[in-house]
Amino acid sequence: MNNVVPKSKSLKEKYRVISHHQADETGPIVIAIGGMHGNENYGIAALRKLDELFTKGEGITGGEWIGIAANTTALKSRVRYIDEDMNRIWFPSIVDKIRRTKKEEILSSERKEIKKLLEILDPYILNNEREIIFVDLHSFSAPGGLFVITPRSEKSEKKLSGLSAPLIFGIDDALQGTALRYFHDQGHISMAFEGGHHHDPATLMNMIAYLLLLTEKFGVIDSSYIDEFEGYKEKIKHEAERLPKKVELAYQHIIEPGDKFVMRPGFVNFQPVEKGEWLADDRNGQIVAPVSGYMLMPLYQEQGNDGFFIVKEF
Ligand SMILES: [Zn+2]
Repeated sequence: MNNVVPKSKSLKEKYRVISHHQADETGPIVIAIGGMHGNENYGIAALRKLDELFTKGEGITGGEWIGIAANTTALKSRVRYIDEDMNRIWFPSIVDKIRRTKKEEILSSERKEIKKLLEILDPYILNNEREIIFVDLHSFSAPGGLFVITPRSEKSEKKLSGLSAPLIFGIDDALQGTALRYFHDQGHISMAFEGGHHHDPATLMNMIAYLLLLTEKFGVIDSSYIDEFEGYKEKIKHEAERLPKKVELAYQHIIEPGDKFVMRPGFVNFQPVEKGEWLADDRNGQIVAPVSGYMLMPLYQEQGNDGFFIVKEF
C-alpha cells in the first residue's frame, strides 16, 4: 500500500464520502463515520450539517476532515444490518481477509461495505505519519444521555477529556470486533460517539456539537469562523451537565439466541440502579442487577446482542 493521500476532488467523487475538506497535508486528520448501523441515520445527517458549516466562510483551518457513510445498503433499507452486524467484524484477521478477497467473491453485504470503505480510508490509515482521529457515530434505542466509548489508555483519556461527553472505558473490551477498537489498535485516537436515542432530534444536535468540539480541539477548525459554534457548544454542555464525567464498565448482559430477553420498560441511560433491582426477564425468569451503578444502553429494539450494561464511576 502506498502512502499517497488522495486529493479532495477525487475523494468527493466517491458517493459514500459525504464531506471532505483539506487545509494542509501535514496536520491531523479527523475521520468521522456515520451509519455503521443502518437504522442510525442521524450520523449521516450530522456529517451533512458539518459539510455545510465547513463549506461556508473560512472552512477548516488545519489538517483534514473526512465524513463518510459506512453501511450504505442497510441505511437504504433502514435496518441495523443486512447479513451481520458491521460493527462486530473489525477483527484484524477478518479485515485483512476482506482486503485480500475480490469484491465479487465476498458474500456478506457488510463485508462488501467494509471493503469499499477501506478502499477510501486505507491511504490514510496505513503508512501515514499524520495524527488520525477516528470517530464512529452511533445512536441507541433507550432515551437520554450521550457518551463516548474509548479504550482505556492515557492518550485517549487526555485527548478526549473536557469535550462535554462522558467517557466510558471498558465497553470496547466487552464488545468484540468494533471499528473503534480496530482503529485504536492501528495506533490512532479512536472512539464511538453515542449521541442519544435513534429518533430524538437532540441526538443530531449532540452529534454536530461533539464533532465541532472535537475538530476544534485538534486544530482542524477555528471556532470563531464557524457559524452556530457557540450555540451548539452551549447546548451539548447543558445536555452533559447532569451526566458523570468518566465511568467504566461493571457488567454486560449478553443475549444468546433463544433467550427471549425483554428489558423492563422505562429505563434511561445513566439511571442509577441498585444491586438486586429487577431489570429484565428472559425465558428463565427475572434478571436482576448483579452490581449497583448506572444503567447504560438498555435494549429496546429487536436487533442487538447486548441487553444492557451497568457502568460505575471511574
Ligand atoms: Zn450503532
